[in-house]
Amino acid sequence: MEQLMVFSQTHYRVEDIQLFRDISEQNLSLIRHILSHCAVVSARTGQIVLDAHSSGSRLYVVLQGALGISKLNDDNNHIENTITQYLPGECVGELSVLDEETHSATVTAIQDSELLVIEAETMWRLIEESNGVARNLLQLLSFRIRAANAQIRSRQKVGEFYRQLSMVDGLTGLHNRAWLNSQLPALVQQAQASATPLSIILVDLDHFKRFNDTYGHVLGDDALQTAAKVLNAGLRPTDFAARYGGEEMMVILPGTAQKQAHTVAQRLCNRLAKARVFHEHNKALPHITGSFGVATLSEEQDYSALIEAADQALYRAKEAGRNQVAL
Ligand code: GH3
Ligand code: MG
Ligand code: MG
Repeated sequence: MEQLMVFSQTHYRVEDIQLFRDISEQNLSLIRHILSHCAVVSARTGQIVLDAHSSGSRLYVVLQGALGISKLNDDNNHIENTITQYLPGECVGELSVLDEETHSATVTAIQDSELLVIEAETMWRLIEESNGVARNLLQLLSFRIRAANAQIRSRQKVGEFYRQLSMVDGLTGLHNRAWLNSQLPALVQQAQASATPLSIILVDLDHFKRFNDTYGHVLGDDALQTAAKVLNAGLRPTDFAARYGGEEMMVILPGTAQKQAHTVAQRLCNRLAKARVFHEHNKALPHITGSFGVATLSEEQDYSALIEAADQALYRAKEAGRNQVAL
C-alpha cells in the first residue's frame, strides 16, 4: 500500500466534523488542542486509505474530497464496486478503533482528498474527555448498524427470490423435483400428525416419445406446457402440482381421501384428453392423453412408500390401456 502523504497546512473547522458536532465551546477548545497533534494526510484519487483485513486502529476524517468503501467478495481478492461514499465531515475506521479488529472493507479515495488521522489512543482520550464525542460516536454507530441491517435484509430478499426460483420448473412453471423433495416429506408428516388424509396423483403422458418423434421436441415442450396448465387449472389453492421428471407430473392433494382424489384424477384425465396443443401458427396438434395413478397415505407409510404406491397405480393405468385413472 502506497504511503499517504503528510499534509500539514490544512486548516479546518472542528465543528464541521460530524464527531464534534453540538459540543460546548469550552469542550471544543480542549478537543482542538488534542486534535492539533493529529496529522493531516492527502490521498490521490484511487489510492487505498484503509486496506481490508489490515490492522491499524485509526480513524480518518474526510476534510476535503471523498472516500468510497468497496466490499471484497467471497474470494477476498476482487473488489466490488463502491457502495458507500464518505464526504467532508464524515469519518471511516471507527469500528477498528473501538474493537481493534481488522478492517472489514477497503476504503479508497474517490477524489483527491485530505484526511485528518486520529489514532486509536487519541480517539479514546477524546471519548474520555468529552461526553459529546461519545454521544456522537454512539449515534454514528447506530446509524451504521441500521445501514448494515438494511443491507442484510435486502440480501435476504434476493436470496429468497433465488431460492423460490430454484424451486420452479423452467418449462412448465410447476414446482420442480427439488421443491417436491423438500415439501412432500413435510406434508406427509403433517397429515400423519394431524390424522388428516392426503392423496397424491402421479401423471405420465401417454406415448410421449412417439409425440416427440413425430412432431419434434419443441412441440413436445408445448404439449408438456399444455398438460401443466390443465393440472394447475383443475386444482384448489391448497393443492400442489409439480414436475416429477421428464413427462411425469405429480399432484398433491392435502386433506383429500381416496374417493375424492379419484374424482379429481378422473376430472384431470378428461380435461387433458380434451385440451388442445397449439402449433406456433395456431394449427392444433393431436390431443395428448395421460395415465393417472392415485395413492392415498396410510398410517404406516412414509413419503417414498406413498410415491411407490402411486407409481404402481400408474403402471396399472398404463397396462389397462392408458388415458385413464387407476387406484
Ligand atoms: P408411455 O405411454 O409408456 O409413458 O410411453 P412414453 O413414450 O411416454 O414413455 P417413455 O418413457 O418411453 O418416453 C418418455 C418421453 O418423454 C421421452 C422423452 O423424450 C420425453 N420427454 C421427457 N422430458 C421431456 C421434455 O422436457 N420435453 C420434451 N419435448 N420431451 C420430453
Ligand atoms: Mg414416463
Ligand atoms: Mg409417458
